Amino acid sequence: LFITFEGVDGCGKSTQMRFLSEYLTKRGIEPVLTREPGGCNISEQIRDMVLDIENREMGDRTEALLYAAARAQHVEEVVRPAVKAGKIVLCDRFIDSSLAYQGVGRGLGIDKVMDINRFAMGDMMPDKTFFLDFPPQLAFGRMSKKRVHDRLETQEEEFYVMLYNGFVKLAELYPERIIRIDASGDKFTTQEIIRGEMEKILEA
Ligand code: C5P
Repeated sequence: LFITFEGVDGCGKSTQMRFLSEYLTKRGIEPVLTREPGGCNISEQIRDMVLDIENREMGDRTEALLYAAARAQHVEEVVRPAVKAGKIVLCDRFIDSSLAYQGVGRGLGIDKVMDINRFAMGDMMPDKTFFLDFPPQLAFGRMSKKRVHDRLETQEEEFYVMLYNGFVKLAELYPERIIRIDASGDKFTTQEIIRGEMEKILEA
């Protein structure tokens, strides 16, 4: 079972993934936790390159291809073997981040970004995706308080709204896979909703 967490920066997805992992562990299930970009040695090296604030001249297509390359390695080395072994894999960001950030945010187009990613990931689509629906204006406010920023962290609220709208569109495009989670309440309430959805997935 391959489950991904998606949403704009500052929506709380990493915290929610950690909470869900603790819940599953208590239930006697040992999930595999991973993230993108990254998750294995080569892909973490690509992550460093893409996020490096010094790499200002990086083009949008280069960025999209590097994410896809990182994904190809991560899928082959980590995700596919774990899923094959019957594990539950929880991944912080995956294909929908590429579609939203590079497809919508950078304006490359959802279809084009999907094409290069089909090549990168083969048939390894997530079984289910939790999209944490958190107001982009608040997410922007949270992130702009951070002192250290990477190359991709924009200082503009409109970019967050655009990305958020991208995720909403993806949730409409893939209604079977993407579960929209109301993440506007406190983190424990959000976690309750996610656990309820996770139970449904486990029963299916
Ligand atoms: O979620 P995380 O903090 O690990 O993401 C690292 C950075 O990469 C963030 O600034 C995020 O916005 C960016 N990112 C991106 N395109 C992706 C995935 C992540 O711009 N496809």
